[in-house]
Amino acid sequence: MRKQIVAGNWKMNNDLAETLALLTDLQKQTQTSNAEVMVAPAFTNLYKAFEALKDSNIEVIAQNMHYAENGAYTGEISASMLKSIGINTVILGHSERREYFNETDESLAKKVDAALEKGMRIIFCFGEELADRKSGNEGTVVENQIKNALFHLSAAAFQNIILAYEPVWAIGTGETASPEQAQDMHAFIRKTLANKYGADIAEEVSILYGGSCKPGNAQEIFSKPDVDGGLIGGASLKAEDFYAIVNAF
Ligand code: PEP
Repeated sequence: MRKQIVAGNWKMNNDLAETLALLTDLQKQTQTSNAEVMVAPAFTNLYKAFEALKDSNIEVIAQNMHYAENGAYTGEISASMLKSIGINTVILGHSERREYFNETDESLAKKVDAALEKGMRIIFCFGEELADRKSGNEGTVVENQIKNALFHLSAAAFQNIILAYEPVWAIGTGETASPEQAQDMHAFIRKTLANKYGADIAEEVSILYGGSCKPGNAQEIFSKPDVDGGLIGGASLKAEDFYAIVNAF
């Protein structure tokens, strides 16, 4: 049975004190679902966050990493550095990284390899822009993003890959994909995986939806058979909202 997962991407929000306060609030929430819960604070707060949550069932994860092991990459962080403070999961390929930091399928393929080599789990993000959807090209765009960054991997590697379909037009805009649009795309993604790796592998990969997911719409989106959870931006910054989404399963 594939895992249900809800991950909060805090982006460049919350200083150390705010991070610890939000973590305290999160720990006061009650979880009624079986979903795995993760939060991704900023790099500067990761270690303290990890320490604060190490006896809880909330996993602290990273928002990004570099593909090199170490070296002259000013301002960057490697997989080993993350592992050395207890971080085992990293978000890669977020549309904001692609848009503002020029991340490409090719550089992401290298990051994926580096993370897997260190035994990390990856939440791999991808999704079409509004123009792609308007022109009916969303399937081709998504298929290419997945193929270019992931299809050099062995089937076994997918044990450590979580996919996050995030239509760019829905991220932080308040506009959500309809549950049907999400289901159609998730089923298409699973079929794309099945064509390459076989149905058994495809059935085991969790595919999260991201894009203006909120307490009011999470239940309907998560009720779709190929939606295995969510990557949550804005609504993950309030403990009650985040847990309302976690408990939407
Ligand atoms: C995200 O950034 O991954 C995201 C889904 O953001 P939001 O929930 O704010 O749309």
